[in-house]
Amino acid sequence: MKIVKTKQEVRDAVSAQRAEGRIIGLVPTMGALHEGHLSLVRAAVEGSDWVVVSIFVNPTQFGEGEDLDRYPRDLEGDAAKCEEIGAHLIFAPNASEMYAGDACTVVRVEGLTEKLCGACRPGHFDGVTTVVNKLLNIVQPDRAWFGRKDYQQLVVIRRMVRDLDMPVEILGGPTVRESDGLALSSRNQYLGDREREVAPKLYEALLQGAGAAREGASGSEVERIVAAKLGEEPLFELQYVQAVEPNSLRPLKSETGPMVIAAAACIGDTRLIDNVVVEE
Ligand code: AMP
Repeated sequence: MKIVKTKQEVRDAVSAQRAEGRIIGLVPTMGALHEGHLSLVRAAVEGSDWVVVSIFVNPTQFGEGEDLDRYPRDLEGDAAKCEEIGAHLIFAPNASEMYAGDACTVVRVEGLTEKLCGACRPGHFDGVTTVVNKLLNIVQPDRAWFGRKDYQQLVVIRRMVRDLDMPVEILGGPTVRESDGLALSSRNQYLGDREREVAPKLYEALLQGAGAAREGASGSEVERIVAAKLGEEPLFELQYVQAVEPNSLRPLKSETGPMVIAAAACIGDTRLIDNVVVEE
C-alpha cells in the first residue's frame, strides 16, 4: 500500500489500475480512523478491486470556533490500519494541494443542507459537498462508501451525485458502536470520563423514540420523547432532535411510514450526532 500526497500521483495510480480492468473503490475520511471508518474500508475491499482511502481534514467544512485545529491526526497509525485490511492507496493531501489559493467554486445541495446539522453549522455541507465532489473527480472511483452515522451527509451526497450525473455508485454502511451504544466518532476522544459515561444516553434516547414510533407515536411525539429523555441529563445540551422522512429529510407527512430520528447534542465542548432509522 502506498501513501501519496498529490492529485497527480492518485490519477496515475488509478489509471494504471483501471487499464487492468479493476473496479475502483473510494472511502473518504478525515482520518483518526476507528472501527466505523474501517468497516467502510472493509466493505470497499469486498465490493471493489482496488481501494483508495482519502485522509484529509477538510478546512472548508469547519466553521469559525469549531475544532479544526485540535481535530485528531494520526497518518501513520491510519495507514497501518488500512494496509492491514487490504486497502491499496492512501491519498493524504495537504490543504494547498486540494485548494488553489484563488479557488472560488462551491458545490451546494440546496434544500437538504439548511436543516438538521446544517442549521447548527452554517456552510458545513457546502464544504462537504465541494470536497467530496473534488475527491470523486480526482479519484474517479466506480463506487464510494459513506457511513449512515452521518445520515444527512449520506443523503446530501446521494442527491449531489444524482443531480450532477456523476458516474459513481454511492454505498452506505451501518453505524458502528461501542458496546454501550455510543456511535464511534473521532471526536469521542475529546470526552472526559464523566462525559464519556453519559454519552451513550444519546443513542438510548433515540432508541426510546424509535420504540414509541413503532408503537404508533407521531413524529412530533417521538421528538418530544427523545428530547425529554435527554433533558434528564444536565450534561447534554440538545441542538436538535427531529423525526424526518428518510430520503427528503422533510418533516413527516403521515403518521405511518419510515422515519429517521436524528439528533445532535453537545456534552461540554464535544458535539455528538446520532440517528436511528425506523422502517415502516
Ligand atoms: P469522518 O472521518 O468523520 O469524515 O468520517 C468518514 C466516513 O466514516 C463518513 O462516511 C462517516 O459517515 C463514516 N463514519 C464515521 N463514524 C462512523 C461510525 N461510527 N460508523 C460507520 N461509519 C462511520
